[in-house]
Amino acid sequence: MRLTHEISTRLGPLLRIRPQVSTEVVALAASVFFALACNSQFLKAALAGRLESDPSTWMFGGAMVVMLTMLHLFLLLLVLHRSVARELLSVLLIATAFATYYMQRFGVFMDPSMLRNVLRTDVAEARELFSLGMVPHLVVFAGLPLLLLWRVQIKKRSLARALALRTLALMATGVLLIGSVFVVYQDFSALMRNQKEMRYLVTPANFLYSTARVLTADTRQAAVARLTVGADARQGASWSARPRPTLLVLAIGETARAANWGLNGYVRQTTPELAKQDVLNFTDVTACGTNTETSLPCMFSAVGRRSYDEERIRGSESLLHVLNRAGFQVLWRDNQSGCKGVCDGLPIQQIDPAQLPELCVDGRCLDDALLSGLDTVARDAKGNLVVVLHMLGNHGPTYYKRYPDAFKRFSPTCDTGELRKCTKDEIVNAYDNALLYTDHILSKTINFLKQQERTFDAALMYVSDHGESLGESGLYLHGVPYAIAPDVQTKVPMVWWLSAGFTKSFGLDQSCLKKQTTKPWAHDELFHTVLGLLQVQTSVYERKFDISAGCRAE
Ligand SMILES: [Zn+2]
Repeated sequence: MRLTHEISTRLGPLLRIRPQVSTEVVALAASVFFALACNSQFLKAALAGRLESDPSTWMFGGAMVVMLTMLHLFLLLLVLHRSVARELLSVLLIATAFATYYMQRFGVFMDPSMLRNVLRTDVAEARELFSLGMVPHLVVFAGLPLLLLWRVQIKKRSLARALALRTLALMATGVLLIGSVFVVYQDFSALMRNQKEMRYLVTPANFLYSTARVLTADTRQAAVARLTVGADARQGASWSARPRPTLLVLAIGETARAANWGLNGYVRQTTPELAKQDVLNFTDVTACGTNTETSLPCMFSAVGRRSYDEERIRGSESLLHVLNRAGFQVLWRDNQSGCKGVCDGLPIQQIDPAQLPELCVDGRCLDDALLSGLDTVARDAKGNLVVVLHMLGNHGPTYYKRYPDAFKRFSPTCDTGELRKCTKDEIVNAYDNALLYTDHILSKTINFLKQQERTFDAALMYVSDHGESLGESGLYLHGVPYAIAPDVQTKVPMVWWLSAGFTKSFGLDQSCLKKQTTKPWAHDELFHTVLGLLQVQTSVYERKFDISAGCRAE
């Protein structure tokens, strides 16, 4: 008792001290904290391959830390006003704590496409990404700095003095920034040339820059109408003689990677049901992006990755708009986070968890929900129908939530979103179980289409949006900048099933198509292949990107 009393009487006055400091000092403290505590990934990458015993390593490393500090200090000094300094820094510290958590745990880069993903995250997604395991990291990286920040009092100054001091501080910071860049320039510029993506590890400048890029691009696009694509699109001559309407299901998978796809020869049979169906399995398909926000608009665009221009793609109509103009009824059925602009202005059905309590938990539904009531959609349509099923697939990190118990065939599984707590085997088991379930859903879709064969010429095309890292080279999830992304993130499965009626009606040669399945293809081909298969005539169609082009009687 005496001791605690002693401590509290001695510490009491100390705790009541609220040091008065200037805004500039607070900004400097924050910048030092960012440089030293939040840039371990960047410094690791910058110093990779250097010897610890070499004095030049320390010189280079030291100059890098000064450069990082001065860069952030310079930016802060430009915007930080005394009256909002603590509030602004608080927001920045909290956001940085989240960013560093994902960067350190999953090897994530905060580039514009990653930020676009983050900004479009819905509640269900955010809930799955948040875990108790984050709390210690948040306490250290946000809690402690915030405690310090809110203990200090920021000095008031007259306007003239404040301006003079700020100008001086900016000049000094500028000089130190240029000086440190000068010291590291030769090595640093070489590094940047070879590993441009490294700049997205500079924290928090990375996510501030990326957020600004995304927001300016979005406002610019909001101001202009979508560019028309294929204004001349119409159904080809063969349509006048077709006895039955067509039902095409485009199943867009999520995070399924080619390496774990049973039909591709993976050591495990993760596609037992599709293996029993008469499908065309494409073994070498490259995704257009490493995240949904990039891949979805890109695969439905006419230009794809070959002449990639994100703004042009986002500002132009998609394959679905072209099909709609040609007279097809189009429907986007979504069990995920929307169509990313691909279906703007077209009919959308978002799976409603409240309608299917047996398939949904915590606002997330199993992909079986996509098939619920699909027969009514199909039969309601008088004519042709193109339905996109946007699956939840293998959406991570909670792979174990993507399948019902019956599909827990590979075990033990990783039953948490905190992948680092699991062994590699547990992660892969959960991931592969989710693939088994995708296999089941696709096979079930085919069985559904078989029932429709008498009424429709039916077909299914399945392709995943991007792959996934499951701990290879310390990487998890996806979203590594495309130029340096590993194959597991860019190679995806693609499967087609064409009914006999569809094959006959569109003059397709199955054995010729079979020969195409081992050739290298990409998301780039989707747009032109669908137009080709459905015999839509338009000037935007490019035959060389149509997988089926040589396999069709014309
Ligand atoms: Zn995705």
